[in-house]
Amino acid sequence: MVRVRFAPSPTGPLHIGGVRTALYNYLFARQNGGKMILRIEDTDQTRFVPGAEQYIIEALDWLGIQFDEGVHIGGPYGPYRQSDRKPLYRQYAEQLLADGWAYYAFDRPEALEAKRKEYEAEKKTFQYDCTTRQGMENSLSLSTEEVQRRIESGEPYVVRFKFPENIDITVHDLIRGGVTMNSRLLDDKVLFKSDGMPTYHLANIVDDHLMEITHVIRGEEWLPSAPLHVMLYKAFGWESTMPQFAHLPLLLKPEGNGKLSKRDGDRLGFPVFPLDWHDPKSGELSSGYREKGYLPQAVVNMLALLGWNPGTEQEIMSMDELIKLFNVEHISKSGAKFNVEKAKWFQHEYFQMLSDEQVAEYLQKEVGARGITASHDYVVKVAALMKERITFPSELWDTCCYFFVAPTEYDPAAIKKRWKAGMTTHMAKVIEILNTVPFEYDTIHQALLEDYIKGNELNMGSVMNSLRLAVVGKTVGPDMLTLVMMLGKEETIRRVQRAIDTIGEVESQS
Ligand code: GLU
Repeated sequence: MVRVRFAPSPTGPLHIGGVRTALYNYLFARQNGGKMILRIEDTDQTRFVPGAEQYIIEALDWLGIQFDEGVHIGGPYGPYRQSDRKPLYRQYAEQLLADGWAYYAFDRPEALEAKRKEYEAEKKTFQYDCTTRQGMENSLSLSTEEVQRRIESGEPYVVRFKFPENIDITVHDLIRGGVTMNSRLLDDKVLFKSDGMPTYHLANIVDDHLMEITHVIRGEEWLPSAPLHVMLYKAFGWESTMPQFAHLPLLLKPEGNGKLSKRDGDRLGFPVFPLDWHDPKSGELSSGYREKGYLPQAVVNMLALLGWNPGTEQEIMSMDELIKLFNVEHISKSGAKFNVEKAKWFQHEYFQMLSDEQVAEYLQKEVGARGITASHDYVVKVAALMKERITFPSELWDTCCYFFVAPTEYDPAAIKKRWKAGMTTHMAKVIEILNTVPFEYDTIHQALLEDYIKGNELNMGSVMNSLRLAVVGKTVGPDMLTLVMMLGKEETIRRVQRAIDTIGEVESQS
């Protein structure tokens, strides 16, 4: 039974890199008929941000990434928030101490800082490891009595992992293959603090074990911690049930250099978060995909392809298709460049998949907000006609407003270019045709475009674009006669008459 977990720390809004990690876990779980778990890793209380957990839950829910167990829904392996599991971890730290896999360390922050400075002065980097630990204040260097005395007198301590000297540790990664590191390069990480809280490393391994996690799919930034994690499984005697690891490639800046950061989003004008986030301390707003008008399906599809491909050219994939097609073998080893234009392309594609009724719903809100009444059928017709020009719902009103309100001004550049001498006469003729010919597309087409414009060898572009200018205010919009049919005879005539009155006749030489 596949069991995977998404294990964010509630330190702020969830970055889209984190969303992608959650998505890959979800696709993998669903494909294998397994379980998807949401665990909140909040052991570092100094980095805790109120509201972040709720944000994570809301964001993943919006995207359709569903959980079988988790902090918000419970489950048989709960609690799913590490701070609620606090009493559980001490015994594991004690087990490692008893078995010689860990030791107490009493070094004060000032002493560690002094060590660092000392090393820096010699252009070296201090690391608390098998080569230095003997010279520090810990239960390896101090006598048993001294250690006992310090603990009993309430002196603060941490518990550190004791890496064996000079052994090769291999992490078998499903994406990268075997990654080997020598223990001399690894520092004796803190596992447990005297405040009774475990660190990330201890809590993460203990929980993955107790929650029977089979696959750890997470960001590449955790690869350097993986040898420690592998060693912890060994130290606990849990090697036979150790999960398989898959470290996902980084999401890179659009230029390709370096990790995609919040600042890149601000700089290049695209969201790096799923939802808007108001920082509770600074009040600063970071914009989200949802509020920008992105559809969750588009965001999911776009993220799925940042670091993975189905092995074919297919780009548009629904969640169900992604579940079918996803495979770890096609996850790339190298970082995936974020591409804003591609994100918009997906959004446009998915917007086109909305039904006319769904688009009309967005449009109806814009219309209603402006105190305009329009029949539902009419709004649906406009939506159907204009949908292809729209990427974001926020563009709907500007793109469709002339279906609902007559223009009050006319684009001066278009007047100059199109409204030639004699145009008032031609426009008066348009009104005459509308008044006399049956108000149907084909008959008006014949009377205006064929008989009048072509028949009199007039400039088609000039006359039709002037009509457009009169009706729309600019030279944009759908097929002109389709628009006329939708607006109706009276409204079109009113608009054309108004343009004649407002723009008037121009000098013949212009
Ligand atoms: N709490 C870690 C994070 O915030 C989880 C890393 C992991 O999946 O092991 O990313």
